Amino acid sequence: MIDVRENISLKDFTTFHIGGPARFFVEVGTVDQLIEALEYANNRELPIFVMGGGSNLLVSDEGFDGLVIHPKFLGFKIVELENSKARVHVASGENWDFVVRRCVEAGLWGIENLSFVPGDAGGFVMQNVGAYGQQASDVTTSVDVYDIELKAKSYKLKAELGFGYRKSIFNTTHKGRYVILSVDILLSRGKVAYIEYPDVKRYMEEEGIAQPTLAQMREAITAIRTSKGFDPDQRWSAGSFFKNPILTPDQYSRVREKIAIKFGPAKTEQLDELKNKFTRNPQEIKIPAGFLMDTLLHMKGMRVGDAEISDKQVISIYNRGKATAKDVIALYSQVRKLVLDATGITLTHEPEFVGIEEE
Ligand SMILES: Cc1cc2nc3c(=O)[nH]c(=O)nc-3n(C[C@H](O)[C@H](O)[C@H](O)COP(=O)(O)OP(=O)(O)OC[C@H]3O[C@@H](n4cnc5c(N)ncnc54)[C@H](O)[C@@H]3O)c2cc1C
Repeated sequence: MIDVRENISLKDFTTFHIGGPARFFVEVGTVDQLIEALEYANNRELPIFVMGGGSNLLVSDEGFDGLVIHPKFLGFKIVELENSKARVHVASGENWDFVVRRCVEAGLWGIENLSFVPGDAGGFVMQNVGAYGQQASDVTTSVDVYDIELKAKSYKLKAELGFGYRKSIFNTTHKGRYVILSVDILLSRGKVAYIEYPDVKRYMEEEGIAQPTLAQMREAITAIRTSKGFDPDQRWSAGSFFKNPILTPDQYSRVREKIAIKFGPAKTEQLDELKNKFTRNPQEIKIPAGFLMDTLLHMKGMRVGDAEISDKQVISIYNRGKATAKDVIALYSQVRKLVLDATGITLTHEPEFVGIEEE
């Protein structure tokens, strides 16, 4: 049996605390309930939206005119393997940070740098979540799914998941086709902490820790993220709002020229340094959006209504309390225009827009 509720505000199901009502809303904890929910939508010709932890979404003020399915699949199991490895089976509705905590407590390395990332295990694999040198694709071995098209349970091995930067088949080629039921990840015992990121290095130096334990690593990441305003209980946001732009060499030359004219040679030197630091593939030049928004344009604190560019992390927009999706979109548009005029770069957004028309 499922309990479909009507006119449910989505605001507090998102970390942004923004969004109007879902016309229909249902939580599903079993595959049978999921099937029932899908039939419910199908019989009434309703669009569906699967909403996990709501941490990568901007929901429109008008809400969602269809059925929101909120997976509450729960389950967590560690299976010890040979060679100090363990396979961890996690149901998709488990809170991600809770998963990390339990793995750290069990002495398993591989996801400790992903501590304190909001959302559920389903979203973790869907978005190929990454932070401080670790990402979902490093540890995911397979995913159990419900195939909406074939109306059947199935599973996908890592090679079939099409992982890329913040993407998988679930948010690209096969978007809307599958509901993620669970994910299997492979972790190890007795590894050494990865502390190469500058923030992590600095933290360890300040704390006088040379070789952090798993627990110390988790503590460090949690502290660093909190200091950047990424504690969803303290600051309402969807994390990073602006993606780091990726440019072709031609585009880069044009941008560089524009920045030289407008901001002078010191800034172009800085731009070149960042390019060298962040670019892995010379055909895809990665520029930190933070450089454009902060170093060049000083956008921290820019505000529309209650939507504000974070003073702690310029690429994040946060809700001061009463922000609407309209405020966020207006701020996003202002930032885009200023960055485009100054540099020729069009910034794009990281969170998924629900019920909002793209420009
Ligand atoms: C403060 C903050 C910090 C963040 N930091 C990071 C970071 O460091 N690195 C990073 O990569 N991300 C970060 N994020 C973004 C976000 O936490 C991740 O993208 C997260 O994995 C989203 O999971 P979710 O369960 O909240 O998904 P949702 O936001 O609910 O949904 C995101 C997408 O996944 C789909 N989806 C969710 N669950 C399922 C399922 N079971 N089956 C099918 N589709 C599903 C939804 O339909 C939607 O398309 C941050 C967000 C916040 C608020």
